[in-house]
Amino acid sequence: MKFFIFDSLSRTKKEFVPIDSNKVRIYACGPTVYDYAHIGNARMAVVTDLLVKTLKKKFKNVTFVSNITDIDDKIIDASKKSGVPISKLTSKFHEIYNKEMNALNVSPPDFQPKASDHINEMIEMIEELVNKDCAYFSNNHIIFRVESYKYYGQLSGRSLDEQLAGSRIEIADYKKNPRDFILWKPSESNEPGWDSPWGRGRPGWHIECSAMSKKCLNIPFDIHCGGVDLTFPHHENEIAQSCSAIKVDCEPQNFCRYWFHNGFVTSDGEKMSKSLGNIKLVNEILKKYSGEVIRLSLLSAHYRQPLNWTEAILQQSEKTLSRIFKNLEKIKKDEIEDSQIKKNEFFLEFQESLFDDLNTPKSLSILNVLINKLKESNKKQQSKIYTAIIEAMKLLGIGKNKEIIIENFDLIKKLIDERDRARQKKDFDRADEIRLELSKINVEIEDTKEGTKWKKLK
Ligand SMILES: [Zn+2]
Repeated sequence: MKFFIFDSLSRTKKEFVPIDSNKVRIYACGPTVYDYAHIGNARMAVVTDLLVKTLKKKFKNVTFVSNITDIDDKIIDASKKSGVPISKLTSKFHEIYNKEMNALNVSPPDFQPKASDHINEMIEMIEELVNKDCAYFSNNHIIFRVESYKYYGQLSGRSLDEQLAGSRIEIADYKKNPRDFILWKPSESNEPGWDSPWGRGRPGWHIECSAMSKKCLNIPFDIHCGGVDLTFPHHENEIAQSCSAIKVDCEPQNFCRYWFHNGFVTSDGEKMSKSLGNIKLVNEILKKYSGEVIRLSLLSAHYRQPLNWTEAILQQSEKTLSRIFKNLEKIKKDEIEDSQIKKNEFFLEFQESLFDDLNTPKSLSILNVLINKLKESNKKQQSKIYTAIIEAMKLLGIGKNKEIIIENFDLIKKLIDERDRARQKKDFDRADEIRLELSKINVEIEDTKEGTKWKKLK
């Protein structure tokens, strides 16, 4: 089964062919940690998590890196305002971010590098850019010379005028051209800073992703993810830096092969902003809805489409989930046979919809059809459909917190296997312990000639 991804650089949906099929490599721009995550941050994390989980169905080895921005002027400002030291502030919100994403069933990335741990790599890359005359020193800053890179603007498709209008141009007399951007800037004595060939200072934001993706994944890697709002200037700048550091006018494909961008989240039809007071924070929504309801809501629209966040979406997802659970609970699970998932046509149809550029609206409608079929089908088919539904929900990352439905299904099988091994080794104490553990989650087991059978007690 082929895997398709929409690549923002070529603006086409393409078959995904990794550089090395034994090692798929993905990078996503992570959060700046000085405040609670909003639902826009969560959409990126959930959608990328689904991409990684789905890719793992096809490729054995997938490495996913997502960074933590812990150096930024917004962090410095927040620290000054609150009086909380920077490292305390960033480690607090880093931890909160990971906890909240965990509540949304987002698996942690394989690596979560922090910008502050990669200053040397950034300095090295900046030196490379200066040596190649792609960057210049001016008024204690190092500035990237945008004119030096001929592919600049290719990702965002912005013309020169649009680049000027779209980026928040700081009026700075040390820039030779207003489009140029900062790689390194001087730090005041009360600001965080590191020694560099250009004096004590700190990096601009964009360079960290170029340095950390190269360090953690090597370039070129396969997929670069992020919110569509990062396309310009952040991702445009990442390409310019990473490619120019290889050689002058090096093509964008030498940084990464596919650009995967998720759409905006609006709040009741309006752009989320502090001034409108309509920013939806994950921790606030979690007080009223489960992480799975939030996750399902985030997946209800196709990831490339804008998503209008409303109370109605949450209510609808809550209804959908409880309907799924009710229908699954009606099935006598002790009569379910484990059917081979690779030959399960119901699951394969579901999987194909996700392999097609993560078409979650289609995959959710397939899941809905399966739920309806479950009641009407004969026993043999029921087993197959039930297994397909469980696997589909695991892939979507929903149903984990519901008693028995998914997590316990796996847990029960794991415990029974372990008990069988203990009995073979005549470790009857451990076997009894496991029987007790199972009874605590209302599972009764029976040892038969054909092996261990289990039943869920009401
Ligand atoms: Zn980035």
